[in-house]
Amino acid sequence: MHLEQRVLITGGAGFLGSHLCERLLAKGANVICADNFFSGTRSNVEHLLEHRRFELVRHDVTFPLYIEVDQIYNLACPASPIHYQRDPVQTTKTSVHGAINMLGLAKRVGAKILQASTSEVYGDPYVHPQTEDYWGNVNPIGPRFCYDEGKRCAETLFFDYKRQHKLRIKVARIFNTYGPRMHPNDGRVVSNFIIQALLGRDITLYGEGQQTRSFCYVDDLIDGLIRLMETGDGVFGPINVGNPEEFTIRQLAEQVIDLTGSRSKMVHRPMPQDDPRQRRPDISWAQSVLDWAPRTQLREGLLRTISYFEKLLSDETVEGRLTTAVA
Ligand code: NAD
Ligand code: UDP
Repeated sequence: MHLEQRVLITGGAGFLGSHLCERLLAKGANVICADNFFSGTRSNVEHLLEHRRFELVRHDVTFPLYIEVDQIYNLACPASPIHYQRDPVQTTKTSVHGAINMLGLAKRVGAKILQASTSEVYGDPYVHPQTEDYWGNVNPIGPRFCYDEGKRCAETLFFDYKRQHKLRIKVARIFNTYGPRMHPNDGRVVSNFIIQALLGRDITLYGEGQQTRSFCYVDDLIDGLIRLMETGDGVFGPINVGNPEEFTIRQLAEQVIDLTGSRSKMVHRPMPQDDPRQRRPDISWAQSVLDWAPRTQLREGLLRTISYFEKLLSDETVEGRLTTAVA
């Protein structure tokens, strides 16, 4: 990266966005973080507010933004089922109108633009592990698909802007990522299980817990995104970024119980509609073009995340608010 590059991160006050802000500041960039705080918080970037190369702007990407930048990371979008299903119409608007607005900005100022797409574009996949050439198995009308179809349409827009307007695009298909600053109340499995274990509450396995996911530690993921942004114009994706080690949800619960030394019991809850049964990225392409692979083992990443949540829960005001997702 050239020193003093101006980088816009939409959704920069969210879980992934806040880590990306930190990493790009450390690399010498000027970072503009734009967020409407739908699922992110000011506290995620509070420690950066005094930095002379950091700027926080309250902005909703469904409206145009007029600024001058060299690079755009488009991360704005609630990412957990609880958050994206709260206002599904707004979720689709954020992905679709947000992509149009940010692509329009990239076109006007000639910026490179990276889209945070998702493994959800593969839906409940018939191809396993998922390779980038698989088109996916997505039900357009279920409650999950405001997110999946919004993200699929955003990918379409990115590729049309590339073909039609010669934009320099990058599309990353991000698989389940975890780590410090996950939202404690957003119902994602890693944060749910850790909080449940730390509070001695029941660990809620949806269904039998036999569905699988592959969990990438946040630092590894951010490294992959930055490497993708820094590739030449011939590399644009869509490219899988995630950890190829696959675990059942029950195995994850067992590890969390073991690492926290908790006495929590596992209980079963109904499986959410259209919940993918298995998910694991094929990252061969990322390995070869980005020279990238995740380095953090699940055990090590979980220990760091547990320590984050231990500190968070020691703030008594937080525990009282942990109702929706983990009760
Ligand atoms: P997050 O909910 O913590 O962050 C999303 C951020 O976007 C939040 O700060 C939120 O306030 C902001 N936002 C939402 N709507 C907005 C709008 N209309 N205008 C401006 N800001 C808006 O989620 P995250 O886990 O950090 O995810 C970041 C991105 O990565 C998302 O686009 C998500 O789809 C993608 N992704 C994440 C994962 C994961 O496992 N974390 C997996 C696949 C894809
Ligand atoms: N899950 C679970 N218990 C929970 C939360 C989630 O068993 O308390 C399951 C969920 O059904 C899914 C997996 O864990 O199969 C991952 O869920 P998450 O919401 O973290 O991510 P996504 O489904 O979007 O991959």
